[in-house]
Order: sequence, then C-alpha cells, then structure tokens
Amino acid sequence: MSGLASDGGLFLPESFPRLPKAFLLNLKGKSFEEIALAVSRKYIRDIPEKDLKKIIRESFNFDIPLKNISEDLYVLELFHGPTLAFKDFGARFMARLMNYYMKKNPGGGKLNIIVATSGDTGSAVARGFYGLSNVNVFVLYPSKRVTDLQEKQMATLGGNITAIEVRGSFDDCQRLAKQALNDPELKSRIVVSSANSINFGRLLPQSFYYFHGVSQLLKLTDDKAMSGVVFCVPSGNFGNLTAGLMAKRMGLNVSGFIAATNFNDVVPRYLQSGKFVSRVSRQTISNAMDVGNPSNFARMTEMFHDNVKQMRKEILGFMVSDEETRKTIRNVYRETNYLIDPHTAVGISASVKCGLKNPIIVLSTAHPAKFRDAVEPVIGKKISLPPALRAIMNKTKKSVLMKDNPEELKKIILKVNRS
Ligand SMILES: *Cc1c(COP(=O)(O)O)cnc(C)c1O
Repeated sequence: MSGLASDGGLFLPESFPRLPKAFLLNLKGKSFEEIALAVSRKYIRDIPEKDLKKIIRESFNFDIPLKNISEDLYVLELFHGPTLAFKDFGARFMARLMNYYMKKNPGGGKLNIIVATSGDTGSAVARGFYGLSNVNVFVLYPSKRVTDLQEKQMATLGGNITAIEVRGSFDDCQRLAKQALNDPELKSRIVVSSANSINFGRLLPQSFYYFHGVSQLLKLTDDKAMSGVVFCVPSGNFGNLTAGLMAKRMGLNVSGFIAATNFNDVVPRYLQSGKFVSRVSRQTISNAMDVGNPSNFARMTEMFHDNVKQMRKEILGFMVSDEETRKTIRNVYRETNYLIDPHTAVGISASVKCGLKNPIIVLSTAHPAKFRDAVEPVIGKKISLPPALRAIMNKTKKSVLMKDNPEELKKIILKVNRS
C-alpha cells in the first residue's frame, strides 16, 4: 500500500521463492489462472485462495496469445486488456489487491487514489480501478493536451472515477496531485495514496506472463523448445524486464533476456561499458519507452549485486533507431501480414540483430491501433480501432473542469467522499 519505502527506496523481496519442481516440469498446458495463482501464493499469504482466485480471474479477463511470426520468432500479445497495452496487467491486479485490503480494514473508509497524467498512465489506472467499491480515483490531466482517445478513456467512465481537467500543463497537474497527497487536512479526513508505477504490486503480475509464454511455447512446439528460450523485452523504465528476471529467479527455464530500447539506451550502454550514465530523454516514435533514467534500474543492479559481468550473462542490450523501427513495421507487415506497433517493432528488430539461434519470445506491449499515428504512414493504410475503443469514442466526457488551484481540488475530493 505504500508504494515507496520510507527511505525513498524501492521494495524488493529479500529472496525469491522457488516454485515447486512439479509445477515447473508440468508448465505445459497450465492455464494462465493456475500459473498466476501458483506464483502469487508465494508472495501473498494473507488472502485466502478463493479470494485470490477471484482477484486473478477479474484482473486478467482477456486473451494472452502467443503467435509464431517466423521460424524461431514468437510474439506474446500483452495488449488485449482494456487500454490496449501491457500496463493493464499491473494496474488491474494492483487495483484489486488494494481494493481487497481496504475492504478487510474495518472502519478504514475508502482509499483515494490521486494521479496526474499526460495521457497513458491515467487511462490504465482509471480503467484498472473502475468499478471497485472501496476506492475513489481522481485523475488530473491537462486540458486540451491529451489525445481525444486518451481523454475518452479516462473521462467517460464515471462511477468511482473522477476525471479532472485542469486548465494548465502536465507539470501543474503533477504539482496539484503532490500537494493533495501531502495536504494535512485531507490526510486527517480521508485515506489518500498514489498509484505509483514502481509499486511492487505492479511488478508481480508481470512475472506471470513469462511462465505463460513458456507454457504456450511448449504447446506450440511440442516440447522442442524445452530449453534455451530467450525473452526480448521492449524497455523504458525496465519494470517489465525486472519481472522477467524475477520469473527466472523463481525457477522458470529461460536462457536470457534481450533489453531492447529505442534511442534512449542508457541500459544497453551500461551493459557495454559498465558505467551507468542517465541522460535527458529524447522523443521517439516508441514514446512509452522514452526514459533517460529508468526507475527499475536500481532493482536490476540489486538483483545482480552491482556486478555488470553477472548482468551480461543474462541480459543482452540493443538500441533500435526510429528508422529501423519503421523498417521493421513495414517488413513484418509485408512479409507476414502481421501488424505491430512501434514498441513491439523495437523488440523484433533487436531480436533479429542479436543473432541468437534460440527461440525468442518478443513481448508485444501495445496494440498497433493505439499508436496508429505512427503506424499508418509507415504501412500506407488506415488502421481501424478495435470495437471496444470505437464504442468509447461515441461517449460523452464527464470531467470536472478546474483552475490550477489546490483548494478547488480539495473541495472536489472531499465532496466525492461525502456522497
Ligand atoms: C510502459 C511501456 C513500455 C516500457 O515498459 P517498462 O516496464 O517501463 O520498461 C513499453 N511499451 C509500451 C507500449 C509501454 O506502455
């Protein structure tokens, strides 16, 4: 529930529990639900099995297919959740855990999540918490500075989600959120929290799909890929890759990982030189990975005891330019009729570059329609939105418009808590 440790550090388990041998040897044919239950039981002991099962079933109520796109190259589609990106895994599971603990805590009232967004985080968090009875969510976004689609995703939900359109910039939204989270009067009257992206509750569910990927591969290849699987992870803040390292520590049979980045390549550079130098991020067409100082890097170095040589044994790093990303989208589409988004393209390009002979599973982190502005000019065709998104586009927004004023925000938050 705290997200960050009190000394400002990131939470990490003291050790990684190993899954039973019988489970690991019989991975093939296990359902996602069975996998998620077995893995999460190792970390979560204070939720009865039937409740945890229900949380899992409701969090992951969408498909997670593995597709073979060429000889030894596979794509694990993680974008079939409500916001069409893999962040739904972390957001939905963490939201349901928080909701569960609030319900268990008698007299605790409701949890009030306050989050500022420039677009994407807000929609994943809003959709993740939508409809949960013990949580209110306040999403602050800058007026007229998010895309139409992003605004509709956040602001048409209603219910326990209050979308607040701020007359100001993203930085103003962030400052307002921080002030509210630290406001003594608010804190004395209600429970407030942020849905922090470095919360361990978001990493844990991301480790489930590494097991699931291997389980699916064993089915597709009839066990030929028993060993030697490599996961290629398009990376920005490296939460996704860290979750893969966790899966390996828990006993999953993985040969290694490819850290695929766009121009913002501080981790591939670290792997090459042994020196970590953060940089100001630069904008690319795979913009969810435009990160110059990845927040989970601290977790990665801790897991390798600050030893770059150890890290190199498990992770290869590759940078992919926008030019290569476009070329990959175009070529994959031409040759296989399979359409990928720019983030997945960074992964596929890195997988081709690495020259490994192993079967490679690329994590596909977003649906191509989500980044259609970047994809359409490359393939020279319009992409239609999936039905769920098309339906949202026709709904009317219900946001509260406010000035950049902390008192006004407090009033809105308290009013929701009185109703
Ligand atoms: C967030 C995001 C990433 C990067 O994931 P990290 O866990 O931050 O490395 C990649 N692709 C998409 C589409 C994303 O939204």
